[in-house]
Amino acid sequence: MIPRYGTPCGHYTGKIDGQDTYCGAKPTRHFLTGHRCRVHTPARLAGKPEVPRPDPKRGLKVSVSKPTRHLEVA
Ligand SMILES: [Zn+2]
Repeated sequence: MIPRYGTPCGHYTGKIDGQDTYCGAKPTRHFLTGHRCRVHTPARLAGKPEVPRPDPKRGLKVSVSKPTRHLEVA
């Protein structure tokens, strides 16, 4: 069995001496694009905020806080 977070990051980091190199950092999470460390997640690379991991105690429901109205007081 593959260790849950033990797979190294597969983010391509370019060629060194003609050899393809990859990030290789751990721990990683698994995405559609493969295992990625925390600095190479698809959201990070796209410059977007990280999607929170669902809380296993709450099941698959993701709580979204209700929009609040703020009054800007100068
Ligand atoms: Zn990485």
